[in-house]
Amino acid sequence: MALKIKEIQAKSIIGSTQVPSADYVINPYTGCQFACMYCFASFMGRFVGETNNNWGNYVYVKTNAVELMEKDILRLMKKNPHPRVVLSTVTDPYQGVEKKYRLTRGILETFAKNNYQGRVGILTKSPMILDDLELLKTITNLEVGMSITTTDDKLSRFLEVQAPLASARLRTLKKLNDAGIKTYVFVGPFLPHMKLKPELIDKLFSEIRKAGTTDIKIEYLNLPKHVKPRMNKLLKEESEEIQEIYSTSQLKKYREEIEPILRDSLEKYGLKLKFDEIVHHVGKQKLVEN
Ligand code: SF4
Repeated sequence: MALKIKEIQAKSIIGSTQVPSADYVINPYTGCQFACMYCFASFMGRFVGETNNNWGNYVYVKTNAVELMEKDILRLMKKNPHPRVVLSTVTDPYQGVEKKYRLTRGILETFAKNNYQGRVGILTKSPMILDDLELLKTITNLEVGMSITTTDDKLSRFLEVQAPLASARLRTLKKLNDAGIKTYVFVGPFLPHMKLKPELIDKLFSEIRKAGTTDIKIEYLNLPKHVKPRMNKLLKEESEEIQEIYSTSQLKKYREEIEPILRDSLEKYGLKLKFDEIVHHVGKQKLVEN
């Protein structure tokens, strides 16, 4: 299906968030052409009249994002200290359309131009971030999170349908580290079947370490009702064992059994768990909208 790209005018570009590591979020696009099957952000369709099942097939481009940001940054800079901001929580800031619109670049330029001192976080799966490497170096307090869930490109293509392959992300991570950019890896979601083969966890952590990153954030798979049917359908052809572990991964028992394995492996590879916590979503979550 051809990607639907629609240009829109946003009313605001900075949104509040419940993400513990940020005060504000910026999402220059609504929708994400990377189309990850586990994507929690697929609820965003309801704000632009798209169905849940259509996730990955549309991107709404907030063409006035940079213009809004030029005003909003002045508001942020009145706060002391400058708030922590992250791009992005419900879209990928470096998905394909960024090549044409360069909204992420424009937003980052406002941070650089204003000598913004607060933490600016970027979370992406895309090597396109390297297009902005020189710009990234000019932002005072920047941190780049690369989302990597596996080292297996076949699995990456299966689950993260149109996202850059895991191997490309690991290469990008190394280039960012070599350039002196502060990085972390977001293992989100932690893929539940890795419990059946802990050597996969070892492989993932060792590759992250080899790429030069030491900070890691891990989040358990989150299967709210707008994601679960999509994942169930995808896993229908998989073995009973796999289906079983994905559904039981939501239980406390699963988390209690896997956590020591994850922590041992982190220690083995000298990786530091951000906030010393593996993130687990409980109860009703606030849906973030800009
Ligand atoms: S890259 Fe992120 S926002 Fe985009 S589909 Fe994948 S998980 Fe969702």
